[in-house]
Amino acid sequence: MKSATELDRMLESIHRRSYPAYKDLRGEYQFPGYVLGIDHVQGDPFAAPSRVSVRVAKAQAGFAPEMYEKEFKRTALSDFLLRKFGASLNAYTFQAKGSGKSGLIGVSRCGQEVLARTACELADGNLIVRMEIGFPANGRTINSPELRKILFEYLPEAVKKSLYYKNLKADEVRAVLELAEDQQAVRELLRERKMIAFVANGSVLPRQSGVSQKPMKNAVPFVSPASMETELKLPHRGAVRGMGIPAGITLIVGGGYHGKSTLLAALEQGVYNHVAGDGRELVITEDTAVKIRAEDGRAITHVNISPFISDLPNRKDTVDFTTEDASGSTSQAANVVEALRAGAQTLLIDEDTCATNFMVRDELMQEVVSPDSEPITPFILQARSLYEKYGISVILVAGSSGAYFGIADRVLQMDNYKTLDISQRVRECLEKRAGKSGAEKAESRVSVDVIFDRSAKRLVRVGHIDKRHDEIKIKQHGRDSFSIGKDTVELGDVEQLLDFEQTTALAYCLKTLAEQLEGRPQDMEQLVERLWQQLKTRGLASLFPGSYVPVSMAWVRRQEIHACVNRYRGLL
Ligand code: ADP
Ligand code: MG
Repeated sequence: MKSATELDRMLESIHRRSYPAYKDLRGEYQFPGYVLGIDHVQGDPFAAPSRVSVRVAKAQAGFAPEMYEKEFKRTALSDFLLRKFGASLNAYTFQAKGSGKSGLIGVSRCGQEVLARTACELADGNLIVRMEIGFPANGRTINSPELRKILFEYLPEAVKKSLYYKNLKADEVRAVLELAEDQQAVRELLRERKMIAFVANGSVLPRQSGVSQKPMKNAVPFVSPASMETELKLPHRGAVRGMGIPAGITLIVGGGYHGKSTLLAALEQGVYNHVAGDGRELVITEDTAVKIRAEDGRAITHVNISPFISDLPNRKDTVDFTTEDASGSTSQAANVVEALRAGAQTLLIDEDTCATNFMVRDELMQEVVSPDSEPITPFILQARSLYEKYGISVILVAGSSGAYFGIADRVLQMDNYKTLDISQRVRECLEKRAGKSGAEKAESRVSVDVIFDRSAKRLVRVGHIDKRHDEIKIKQHGRDSFSIGKDTVELGDVEQLLDFEQTTALAYCLKTLAEQLEGRPQDMEQLVERLWQQLKTRGLASLFPGSYVPVSMAWVRRQEIHACVNRYRGLL
């Protein structure tokens, strides 16, 4: 390995030469306390910035094994270090000057969720931090003294301040780890008590605005209805009280604008842990839960949606259903089936984003249109057997229809942001009306069993994919979509995907899978599972077998990997 002094000398020698001379810097350099890796050098000052890494060895980083041995603590600590590192380095972006992206310093920006990221990984106590830096130039002429500022002043300062335990505030580190332990304890207690979600009293659920995920100021804090109040004993905070939602079918009703969707959104995002100060630190949902919605226009490839849709007018096969342009109801049916195949134990549904005909069919309609000519078996007819036979829970926001009262295990009402348990009142109403309502009388015609049939393979293949230099080209357009070859994958309606870098991870997951699926049909679910196991054991960086990680990625769930592959229009 070369020394920092050698790098300094090389920088001096390439000053004012033409840009490609920067390529010679690729390699590793021993700095005091860490190794600087210049992993990839950009082609010109306007291209994607160069990739640089910092490796701090265990002894120097100084974190104790109990801070990182468990995965959830490792994730919380890495997240914390990355935030610190970013805060000290982002101030320096474009302080070094030049053309194009000269002087850019890009460190991943973390949102409210705590996610494992390739930008900062702790493996066995050794720390690796990855970032991008725009190597400075004037026009295409190297300006190496400006790069020297970044590599010899800004970066060492940020590393020293934020990546060495001895220079961090011990209290702050402890608080991060304690929160992570408490959140983990809630997850484990939920499992033990057969609950699917917990919302601590005092939680702040609404966000500042549609564009800010920070907590709303002066929000009405969450208070559990007495009947659902549960006490959890957490290792650090001690006894915490809040609403425990048991497995089963839970309905959330109430007038418009009373906070129903806000509660559901908090539950959707509760599959991830949140940082201190977020307001949702102790809003925890079992982590396989999937938000289900209608998604007109999505593509569906070889999905058995027959438990919900059968006998379509054009005799289209719904046991092996394929379309490039799904309707509201077929898209929602596919979303349910795919989520369950991806291992979801809980479905979260908001009527605001549902296809009504997928959810219910009222009595009068049943009388007028005979069940025999109606292709849709509404969700309401299958929800009970999903739970009773397969333990699938549902949390459903329904403000406008009482149809689900009859199948719900409990009913919550949102009233001016207060949560009330109205299950008893609903029961009484139903008893009074017994015999009068027939909305839930119809029988479901097709069993949900096929959804859970593990022997049923999902054989798909990918046709020819456009390549450049034998590589499938990926281009990301933001949080909501990316292109792969000539296809665009739209993920805007995959609502639990929260971070730009998660989309990046999905793009490269799909690339890996598409390479395997090109040409011959294979069991897609099995391939996804294999990839998922690989990510779990070897991390996101393993998506790149080469020597460095060219993009920044954040952790995704198996459910989102499935969701992404399922929306790929290249599947045949
Ligand atoms: P609904 O789904 O019942 O129509 P929403 O959940 O969309 O209602 O909430 C309506 C508005 O109220 C939103 O702007 C939301 O930010 C705000 N809101 C939700 N919960 C609270 C709360 N606990 N305190 C203050 N404002 C809230
Ligand atoms: Mg709503």
